[in-house]
Amino acid sequence: MSYILLQDMADWLRADGLEVIEYSGWKTRARGSSGYTSNPLCVMWHHTASNSSWDGQKDADYCTVGDTNSPLANLYINRAGIVWVCAAGATNTNGSGNSIQFSRGTVPVDGMNSRAVGIECGNNGVGERWPQSQIDAMFATSNCINRNLGNLPSDVSSHQFYAPSRKIDPATGNVEGPWVPRTLNSSGTWDRNSIIEECNNRANNSIPIPPTPTPIPPYNPDPDDEDEMAVQLRVRFEGYKNVFLYEYNTFTHLTGRSDGKYQNVPLEVWDAHPQGMKGAIAKAGLEMEDMIPE
Ligand SMILES: [Zn+2]
Repeated sequence: MSYILLQDMADWLRADGLEVIEYSGWKTRARGSSGYTSNPLCVMWHHTASNSSWDGQKDADYCTVGDTNSPLANLYINRAGIVWVCAAGATNTNGSGNSIQFSRGTVPVDGMNSRAVGIECGNNGVGERWPQSQIDAMFATSNCINRNLGNLPSDVSSHQFYAPSRKIDPATGNVEGPWVPRTLNSSGTWDRNSIIEECNNRANNSIPIPPTPTPIPPYNPDPDDEDEMAVQLRVRFEGYKNVFLYEYNTFTHLTGRSDGKYQNVPLEVWDAHPQGMKGAIAKAGLEMEDMIPE
């Protein structure tokens, strides 16, 4: 049986602006028992429970190769928000736990290790401060991985939600930055719903805003300037689909050419003045009724 290896994870993360360290051998690292048979259904959130003196490479070493059950995580995020990519295949991150439904399928009881990307985040879990740079990297990483896997931003679970009888992570509420997690218990375990809400918020806010088209300004060429006379503009009058090619004092009507050459020209509002439009229509040899309303 061959299993899926997520060998593009480092590239995915870098493309989203994260600082990435590729742990030697990560592209072929996986746990010995069953692996991913399809894209993982979710991202699992953990804290390392390590002392802050372990931050960085020492935490990464432990998660990746330092334990008899290693690899213990696919990704490790340190206090500064740097992401170590530790393993491309399934890992021993989650252990036994409940069945959970996600957008593309249901993880069965005790089935999380071969259906999740596990993220270990450096924190002692008993009150150590969570720096904002780390929190920001955690949300960015979770959303990046889920998006590239074809999941929703909400396809996440805490370790505690999966295994409530034996796990508290991630915790505690000593979190810097604008996100304030709701906590569930005296350990300060983050409410999974609070994580999901913030994943959704950050995913929605990162949708690129399309650029505003720049209108072409009214064109008043100097008739004595041959260079200006040679300028051509494609123009459209507000409220109409028709497109014209404008050269000095001459309009040529382009919309509907049988070869379709100008069907996809950028439609830009050049001048909404009705007299200007009528003059252009006449110069193009058209009538008002030839204009196609939007
Ligand atoms: Zn955990």
